[in-house]
Amino acid sequence: MKLEIDQERLLSELETLAAFSDAEPPAVTRIVFTPTDLKARAWVISRCEEAGLNVRQDAIGNIFARWSGANPAAPAVGTGSHIDAIPNAGKYDGVVGVLGGLEAIRALQRSGFRPKNPIELLVFATEEPTRFGVGCLGSRLLSGTVSADAAAKLKDRDGGSVDEVRRKAGLHGNLQDTKLSKGYYKAFVELHIEQGPLLERAQTSLGIVRSIAAPASLRILLEGAGGHAGGVLMPDRKDALCAAAELILAVESAARSSGAPDTVATVGVCEVFPGAVNSIPSRVRMTLDIRDTDLARRDGVMQVIERAWQNTAAKRGVSIQSELLNADAPADCDPGVRAALADSCRQHGFPFLEMVSRAYHDSLFMSRIAPTGMLFIPCRNGYSNRPDAYAAPEDVARGALVLAETLAKLSA
Ligand SMILES: [Zn+2]
Repeated sequence: MKLEIDQERLLSELETLAAFSDAEPPAVTRIVFTPTDLKARAWVISRCEEAGLNVRQDAIGNIFARWSGANPAAPAVGTGSHIDAIPNAGKYDGVVGVLGGLEAIRALQRSGFRPKNPIELLVFATEEPTRFGVGCLGSRLLSGTVSADAAAKLKDRDGGSVDEVRRKAGLHGNLQDTKLSKGYYKAFVELHIEQGPLLERAQTSLGIVRSIAAPASLRILLEGAGGHAGGVLMPDRKDALCAAAELILAVESAARSSGAPDTVATVGVCEVFPGAVNSIPSRVRMTLDIRDTDLARRDGVMQVIERAWQNTAAKRGVSIQSELLNADAPADCDPGVRAALADSCRQHGFPFLEMVSRAYHDSLFMSRIAPTGMLFIPCRNGYSNRPDAYAAPEDVARGALVLAETLAKLSA
């Protein structure tokens, strides 16, 4: 089998897809189910059909493009990613995994390879949280991580529910039917840009993901007592911002002392009320994002943080309420899929790094129903989600080649 990636065609398809955008180039804005996104989806479907793949869409808009194997009833080997893009993003996030996956399939076809298991390209719907506030909605539904009822009720900024928006986009199926059985996929592999600087720093073109970190996020409300900045003397104060400052440092200290570099915690929003120079802060609203590759360790750090909060609340006479917004479990990639990726790299003489995915992806949810792996390629300066994101053509092509080799191994 001689596998060759048509780098020129793959790159020109990346450019064509980037032109489906509501922002001026090089920026890409492609919010799911907008007219621009629907045009981009139709274009991707036409590319898949041109490659002889059978295309179907489910009720949330996940696109499945299938190359039937010698045994069409066997579990499929899946690959894919997403094409929706946050406002003012770049052209590589997700797209490399979709168009790279398509080119991997075409390279296998050209080589004369005939898979035993079907090979299926997946374009996950609504990966970005931009429209409905929840990331990876398509893969959450596929994997049963979110119920159809809960998903249907999510609303966009204009008050349109998922159900209304998807029907307007021509998706009339039953959301309940999006969930796939555990045996549907034999394996799943996602090709993606790293969205971090490690591959570039190591001057290595390929990364094989060992585990995918996952966040828990909380909204926190502190209430103290306001008053005049001159009139209320220090012993009488219940300053909500001073309490918040203690909390933020407790978060940092708990994450630093978890014993693992994979624990990270961030307070990214801190709103102070009433927000006047001569007024004692009475209320603070904050968010906490805490991530790890190990669920028990992440939960342990959250407990440490909570104990610190209780102390602060008691000591300072403020009330602290927290609301858990989401808590996804991290995932380990499947040893078999990792081995297939590593063998494919070695076969072509490509060095690779084993790494952790710090961002989460559709693969996190696919891992609930299928043995899953991820392959990373570098992106300049680690930039992603910005117009100047860049991945070198040869890295994109190399990723597609290793993906093709891996799909062949997994479907043979
Ligand atoms: Zn992505």
